[in-house]
Amino acid sequence: MDFKELFQNTNWDEIKSSIYAKTATDVERALNTSKRNLEDFKALISPAAEPYLEQMAQLSHQLTQKRFGKTIQLFAPMYLSNECNNICTYCGFSLDNKIRRKTLSDKEILEEVAYLKEKGFNHILLVTGEANHTVHVPYFKHAMELIRSQFANISIEVQPLDEPEYRELGEAGVYAVLVYQETYHQDVYKQYHPKGKKSNFNYRLDTPDRIGRAGVHKIGLGVLLGLEDWRTDSFFCALHLDYLQKTYWQSKYSISFPRMRPAEGIIEPNVIVGDKELVQLICAYRLFNEDVELSLSTRESEHFRNHVIPLGVTTMSAESKTNPGGYVVEPESLEQFEISDERPVEVIASLIKSKGYEAVWKDWDRSFTSSFGGGKSGRIDDLTPDPVISNQVNSGHV
Ligand code: SF4
Repeated sequence: MDFKELFQNTNWDEIKSSIYAKTATDVERALNTSKRNLEDFKALISPAAEPYLEQMAQLSHQLTQKRFGKTIQLFAPMYLSNECNNICTYCGFSLDNKIRRKTLSDKEILEEVAYLKEKGFNHILLVTGEANHTVHVPYFKHAMELIRSQFANISIEVQPLDEPEYRELGEAGVYAVLVYQETYHQDVYKQYHPKGKKSNFNYRLDTPDRIGRAGVHKIGLGVLLGLEDWRTDSFFCALHLDYLQKTYWQSKYSISFPRMRPAEGIIEPNVIVGDKELVQLICAYRLFNEDVELSLSTRESEHFRNHVIPLGVTTMSAESKTNPGGYVVEPESLEQFEISDERPVEVIASLIKSKGYEAVWKDWDRSFTSSFGGGKSGRIDDLTPDPVISNQVNSGHV
């Protein structure tokens, strides 16, 4: 059975009702067991778990430290192109947005790389829109050849590809492939993706299976928080993760939690995911799955990122630009979305150190063994007093 079949046998409305029906007893059982299943995950993301957030945070901290040590892996995204043939109503690169389109040349790629190397990055994420005539597998392979010798890890977040193409890119040195389903609500998905290849829900849903069959080292999953009910969408993402881990057990996995951010010409979020809810989600993933990497981007505010370091995340981007050439070549070009935490990577590395953690500049599993040890755990209460949090929650943007 592939994930599509499993998905077709899982009803959105029934899952949603069962999450909202979870009780304090269900949450306590989920907290007190050592091996958690998908029913426990539902309890942990349910409204009934909100009073248990402090306990969840403490447990998440302990499990993360036991498995990953006191490390946070740093990476930088590098946008290669903003060309895109899709309409996605939440994205600044959407085909119907009249922006200047750009795909980096060899010279420009090397200029951006030189900047990121100067900053110390050893793990890079290459990002593009979906423009199959210009930004395609030969272009990716060529970019890989140009920069491979300069990075310990190169990951990609590009259009969904076929299995042989993923195999080709894996052989060319791609370390991880990130592909977010955006939302697992099939009808709503069509409204957000009215035109282009991305409007094919099933092809996207099947993508992690193709990546897994191609034997790529790591697969990144996630939903775009703000499109649909975040608890139900996150359950489906956890279901997907669970299926993939059992099926392609040789691969590693990461989860990201992108909340919708403002961008040129995009819609407002349908659902606001508050800071405490996002912490609940991060902790629930950690309690559900001790091995999965949890990644937090610069979409999040300085305050939020400062406080979640000890609560379960393992990976952070820093000083990100979300436009092609954004570091040095063309800093003024239009971003895919606005960054919230704009601090330089040196500041983020110092912040990580000040929390008693080690900033790791390449894949953590080659570095973390030196970093085990005790330390101060983050407390959920740290997130309450700062007015930035309530402003953010009420602003209509996340
Ligand atoms: S989300 Fe991706 S596919 Fe959709 S418009 Fe933006 S760049 Fe293109």
